[in-house]
Amino acid sequence: MAFEGLTDRLQKAMEKLRRKPKVTEADLRETMREIRLALLEADVNFKVVKDFVKTVREKAAGAEVLKGLNPAQQIVKIVNEELTKLMGEEAVPLNKAPHIPTVIMMVGLQGAGKTTTAGKLALRLKNESHARPMFIAADVYRPAAITQLQQVADQIDVPVFEKGTDVDPVEIVREGMDVAKKNHNDYVIIDTAGRLQIDEQLMDELANIKELVNPNEILLVIDSMTGQNAVNTAQGFDDKLDITGVVLTKLDGDTRGGAAMSIRAVTGKPIKFVGEGEKMEDLDVFHPDRMASRILG
Ligand code: GDP
Repeated sequence: MAFEGLTDRLQKAMEKLRRKPKVTEADLRETMREIRLALLEADVNFKVVKDFVKTVREKAAGAEVLKGLNPAQQIVKIVNEELTKLMGEEAVPLNKAPHIPTVIMMVGLQGAGKTTTAGKLALRLKNESHARPMFIAADVYRPAAITQLQQVADQIDVPVFEKGTDVDPVEIVREGMDVAKKNHNDYVIIDTAGRLQIDEQLMDELANIKELVNPNEILLVIDSMTGQNAVNTAQGFDDKLDITGVVLTKLDGDTRGGAAMSIRAVTGKPIKFVGEGEKMEDLDVFHPDRMASRILG
């Protein structure tokens, strides 16, 4: 992942400040304008940008940055802190059930990376805590979806509960949960159906599954490369399902960073993981501070 354009522009804005022997109000305004444009160009939600710039400006004024030593350095520090805050401050761990199994429901649009991420997550749980996860295949609309989940599961040696495509997904989940309990699986990861866009029927089905299993996590998987659309998708899913977290995929191909910077601010929900490749190992915990440092370069 490299948000080259954004990093480059922010660095240039800061560099300009650094070269000044004395930084004036006007210089500061100009820097804020450049930061604003850089964020907008990175496809950060416009309201998020507005609030962000306002906060940085207020902080800079409050700290009397212009009167102190190294105003440029201080502004970089403020921008770094505010970027970190914007993305949630701290890494947020997965919720865990007091009694096994912990139930994780994967939701998202088709192609976002739901099935791949379900596999990555299961592998991570296995490696980290010797967990014994089980998948439930609840996408009955595309026969290929079950095959794909099976392929992913085979790679990482995780069982799949499936009933083909002729059974109601809520019923599949009900039966799957019984099997997981009988087998003492400590995690159940439900791979749900996606659509090309959010539709009422899909949302109702997901809400029914949610109601049945009362999941510990509803993880929304979204493609970071879709920028503002990713943010709208997140809001749509959150309105209907009250998600518990986001997995932002394809960050390895995202050159702008708008989704990463906007989602938390717009939905209030944490990004818990990021996908940075197609392999099962390519899933990382999302650390807002590290991401802020990466953005600033
Ligand atoms: P689903 O329809 O939401 O289940 O999406 P899939 O899991 O089938 O993923 C769609 C495509 O995105 C596949 O080709 C995956 O290999 C790819 N993919 C998923 N996550 C990532 C990621 O983090 N980075 C990259 N580069 N590709 C990914």
